[in-house]
Amino acid sequence: MIGEVTGGGPGSGGLTRPRLLVVSGPSGVGKSSVVSELRRLLPELYFSVSVTTRPPRSGENDGEHYHFVDDAAFDRLITSGELLEHAEYAGYRYGTPRGPVERALDSGRPAVLEIELAGARQVRKAMPEAVLVMLTPPTWRELVDRLTARGTEDPAVVARRLETAERELSARDEFDTLVVNADVRSAARELLTLITGDTST
Ligand code: 5GP
Repeated sequence: MIGEVTGGGPGSGGLTRPRLLVVSGPSGVGKSSVVSELRRLLPELYFSVSVTTRPPRSGENDGEHYHFVDDAAFDRLITSGELLEHAEYAGYRYGTPRGPVERALDSGRPAVLEIELAGARQVRKAMPEAVLVMLTPPTWRELVDRLTARGTEDPAVVARRLETAERELSARDEFDTLVVNADVRSAARELLTLITGDTST
């Protein structure tokens, strides 16, 4: 079993489940920064830790940024029904462990998944009550600059991610809300409002 949820949260025992927020958007749009800021604003939020076959980047820790597994282990998770959704992205596989998300929601904690388009579509089907948000760059040029400046990938990988980005952005109509990431704090506050419904922050 992957990733236990620790602690309960406000609202336990209520009739309605708290929200499941799915944050999607192209690589380089700043999903991780926005979601980190959101966690700072709402510490009781459960942030799903995905499983991936991608090797760790420098500074990434197993169990914290991802659960890093090999293909065989990933296959076993699919077969045993432990993944809420899974998809392939830029040559590697990614998936959301189902149990921790369900336990978080059951215990009253809102949950956030930061996943790509194919996975977001699967969550839409499996959990229609989920709120799907697409994070978009202010301009296409900005996305190209951000992806190039990151410098962690070689040019072929950047080119492939831009192609994927174009495809992901063209699916914007499938999402409940678009949030433009012109500024990390403002974008995070918009997400917070979607979760809490509170517009005073
Ligand atoms: P990265 O390799 O840059 O960490 O992530 C690549 C892409 O995979 C990003 O768009 C990220 O949102 C997405 N991703 C991360 N975890 C998951 C997951 O569990 N499921 C799906 N479908 N996509 C994921």
